[in-house]
This record gives sequence, structure tokens and C-alpha cells, in this order.
Amino acid sequence: MKIVLQNLTQIFPSRNKKGEEVVAVNDFSYEVPDGKLVALLGPSGCGKSTTLYMISGLQKPTAGKIFFGDDDVTELSPENRGVGLVFQNYALYPHMTVKQNILFPLQNMKGKDRLTKEQMLERAYEAARLVQIDELMDRKPSELSGGQQQRVAIARALVKMPRVLLLDEPLSNLDARLRLQTREEIRRIQRETGITTVFVTHDQEEAMSISDMIVVMKAGVMQQSGKPQEVYDDPTNLFVAKFLGTPPINVFRGTVKDETLYIGEDAVMKVKGIADADVYVGIRPEGFIVDPNGTLHCKLTSVEVMGRDVSIVSKNDAMVSPTIRSIVDADTAIDTASETVTFSLKPHKVFLFSAETEERLYPEVE
Ligand code: ATP
Repeated sequence: MKIVLQNLTQIFPSRNKKGEEVVAVNDFSYEVPDGKLVALLGPSGCGKSTTLYMISGLQKPTAGKIFFGDDDVTELSPENRGVGLVFQNYALYPHMTVKQNILFPLQNMKGKDRLTKEQMLERAYEAARLVQIDELMDRKPSELSGGQQQRVAIARALVKMPRVLLLDEPLSNLDARLRLQTREEIRRIQRETGITTVFVTHDQEEAMSISDMIVVMKAGVMQQSGKPQEVYDDPTNLFVAKFLGTPPINVFRGTVKDETLYIGEDAVMKVKGIADADVYVGIRPEGFIVDPNGTLHCKLTSVEVMGRDVSIVSKNDAMVSPTIRSIVDADTAIDTASETVTFSLKPHKVFLFSAETEERLYPEVE
């Protein structure tokens, strides 16, 4: 079931006379493809939860429309949309067992949808098996780990066989190891069920690792959408470039003069078709090659060996980032006693942005 979001806008009124209204989501249009897992990604306050709540029906949009398949669901209540919701805090009923928690949504179904007791149990065990907690059905939530509680919450969301699964920061309360494990689980469950899923997170690594598509948001406005690798390789503006990637992209102040890009005094590369202007230069950590004959000269701070790779930390007067971090192969010969390090650059890992608008500038490919 595809989800179509058409010009969705959510404006919250001001709380006092002087205050300004909050435009939490601004003219957001996107189509979540059938059976895919899409992450809404962005910093705190960018409007991703509000977007999810509008899809769920918990919040009514100020303007715009929402379709599930060809059905306009904009005016439907959450119960009538067929959505499964999972939140950051698992919101399980503490006095009920795992089984009772999972059964609860089925027991509340009315009319023709109502199942027999046997059918309910069958569905509850099916959902529990899917998230691998069928051994824990008689425990209370307090007797489970955080990861197990989150699985119960997912089983409870899936038991009604929703048309759409919506997850709001479902991994935030888990420790680092469980986060990794649970995110793999969510991916597996999503693949097995083929259920169209929207996942909200501020963690770019999480979004990149499990999503078919990501949608990057800032201040209520969609910045870019696409497959994770495509967005990483081809960011549309400085915000998206900085938001994706660990270690983050290295940003420098630069100048373009006569189709040559300068970082400080260093003429680092040709940029055909770019007019003379001040720019930001973003270089991915993997975009540097240690090269004594290279074009970019930096002051060497430290060299950190990380097994397969080496991380070179350096400085440059034109840098905007606090340090420059480049990742090179462990076999690379580096003179650690030297005070300087010189790099040549991989052109496809170097991005130019207008210093004025922070939008990407695209040199002509020769
Ligand atoms: P976080 O990751 O911190 O949850 P988010 O990207 O999910 O952030 P939202 O919760 O969607 O962001 O909030 C978007 C903006 O709307 C924020 O500025 C927030 O303060 C504001 N906002 C959210 N809910 C309301 C509300 N009920 N009334 C007024 N303003 C709200």
C-alpha cells in the first residue's frame, strides 16, 4: 500500500497573544512506495514526528491530503486508517502480561472485524513469533529488557495486520548494542511482512542502514529524498551534506576564480562552468589521498589507527569544521613525525555550495 502525502502543512497556533504560530511542517509532498521502509530524518524540531502523526491520524493537517493507495484518508480517525503505531516509550500496560498486551487491540475490535478467542490467540502468537518473543508471553513488561519490550510494542502494532506501520524513534531508549540488534530486527520484520513502513529518527546512521529511502527534513521543509547512498553521494545542499555521514563531511571556505577552486592559497581543482564567487567546499573523509605532490596543504594534528583504516586529523586555516578528518587505507605511508600533510582530492567526493544560499553548485564534467 503506497502512502501519498500531498502538500501537507501543520501550523500550530501561538500559545499567547504576542507569540508567533509554529509552522511545524510546510508544504510536504512525498510518495512512500508500496512495501518500502522510508525514514524521515532530521534534527530535533524539524517536523518529522508531526508528519508521522498526520499520517497516523493523531493530528489533522492544517492543509494538504493523505492517501493510502487510492483512498483519501485525510478525514479518517486513527482507528479507521489501519495503522500500527510504535513509539519511543513502549507504552505497554504494566499490569498485563505480554500476551494480554498483544491481545488488547484485537479484543477492542468491533462488529464484523471481531475475531473469535481462538483466532485472537492465533494472531497474537503469530505476531509474537515474528518478533521472536513467543517464549515470553506470560511475563509482565517489567520482567523484560528494553529491547524485548520494544518487540512487544511492535507485535502489538502488527497484530491487527495494519496497512501501514509507523515507528517514532523506536530505538531511542535502547543501549548501543540493543539498538543495533533491534534495528536489524525491524528491518527483518518489515521485509518479512512487506508492510509499508515510515520510521522517524534523528540518527542518520540508523536511517542510512535500514531504509530503502530517506527523506531529510529541516525546519518543516523537505530538503531531499532518495536512496540513502544516492543522497550521501549527491547532496543537494550544505545542510544535507553535513547531516549525513560519520565522520561528518569536512567543510572549508573556498573561492572560485577563473574556473579554479581555491582553499586558502591552494588551487585544489578545476571547476568548469562555475562563476567566480565565494563557496563552501565539502570533502567527504574518504575523499582525501595522501600525496606529497597533492594540492591541499594541512597541518598534521594526529594519526589514529583504526584497524582497516587510518584516520588523519589535521587543520587548515580555511576550515569551517573544528578539525579535518580524513580516512585512508591502513597501508598508506604517512610521515607521522611531519608537521604537515598534503592531499590530493577525489573529485566525486568534493562538493561545492554557494556561500550565499548554501545550495549545491555543479561543475561541468570534462
Ligand atoms: P524531535 O526529534 O525533537 O521529536 P521532531 O522533528 O519530531 O523533533 P516535531 O515534534 O514534529 O519535531 O515538532 C516540530 C515543531 O513543531 C517544533 O518546533 C515543535 O516545538 C512544534 N510543535 C510540535 N507539537 C506542537 C504543539 N502541539 N503545539 C505547538 N507546537 C508544536
